Amino acid sequence: MIMGFESLNDVFQIKANRANGSAVLALYRCFKKFWLILDGNICMIPRDPPRRPQLGFLYLPPFRVQGISIAGEESVVQLPELDTCFDIGRCPRAALSSPYVALTHGHMDHSAGLAYYFSQRYFQGMGVGTVLCHPKLEQPIHNLMRAWIDIEAQKTPYNVKAMEPDEQIEIKKTLFLRAFETNHRVPSLGYTIVEKRSKLRPDLTGMPQEKLIALKKKGEPITQTHDIPLVCYTGDTAWGSHFDRPDVLEAQILITECTFLEEDHRKRANVGMHLHLDDIIKLLERSTAKAIVLTHLSRRTHLAQAKKQIFEAIKPEDRQRLFLLMDHRNNRERYAQQQEQLGEVRD
Ligand SMILES: [Zn+2]
Ligand SMILES: [Zn+2]
Repeated sequence: MIMGFESLNDVFQIKANRANGSAVLALYRCFKKFWLILDGNICMIPRDPPRRPQLGFLYLPPFRVQGISIAGEESVVQLPELDTCFDIGRCPRAALSSPYVALTHGHMDHSAGLAYYFSQRYFQGMGVGTVLCHPKLEQPIHNLMRAWIDIEAQKTPYNVKAMEPDEQIEIKKTLFLRAFETNHRVPSLGYTIVEKRSKLRPDLTGMPQEKLIALKKKGEPITQTHDIPLVCYTGDTAWGSHFDRPDVLEAQILITECTFLEEDHRKRANVGMHLHLDDIIKLLERSTAKAIVLTHLSRRTHLAQAKKQIFEAIKPEDRQRLFLLMDHRNNRERYAQQQEQLGEVRD
């Protein structure tokens, strides 16, 4: 039985009846550390503060997908090899290394780290960061950075590039980031990173080298460019015609949201203009991606429960290609296996 409670500087003292073992046990479960003092008083130090959320990490060769994504709190998904960070809800240190932030929409949980991203990149001598955004967000971003000049009494350099739907920009040699319209409560875009690979024109297959060179010298194009959609990130969105696009459905890695799972949350998904597990099932039937990464799960459902619900709802053959970005334990185990396999190859 707990007899009293008083605070002693940083240390809380709780007096408990020494004979009552279950009370002591209950207290032990509440607080990680305590000292039992001889006269029967239990002295305990309070818990340390919660740590910052850990970065989710998946190695989907040849790309790393890393970041944090929790509905309503924070979404930032980085592909280091592709120089791009999709959304920047807050700005973890790792995100700074990406010269581009492709912003899907302005909701705070996706955009609040933007000013900090620009500032830290500049401060650390990493070059001026560029944000790609919906045309309707261009001016508000200028306003945001303008406000920071007044707050900080200094000017942070930054670049904003408004992306019209279907516009694409080159982010790396032969790699283009293309925007497409999505369906959310505010102006929103999704993005696909496309590799432009040139291949010999099919009608010239088998032609001797000298003849090809001669054609080229005459100024005739001997190659054709093919678009290979590498990674697609939809951001927050309801179901819509963008899920018919080849560069979404054929992306090798498709990163999308799944905010609602429960049957009775269908209506909430519609109101919030988010995807529901039913949509993911539809999407799995259409997408040819070798990996589909779910983000933006709600904290309302415990991760283990969410995982069970998702994996029971999908076809067994899809279980190998569906990942949850924030499923730290599984993703860590998978990465350890990948390292082991690579070690075996090296040996
Ligand atoms: Zn969101
Ligand atoms: Zn949103």
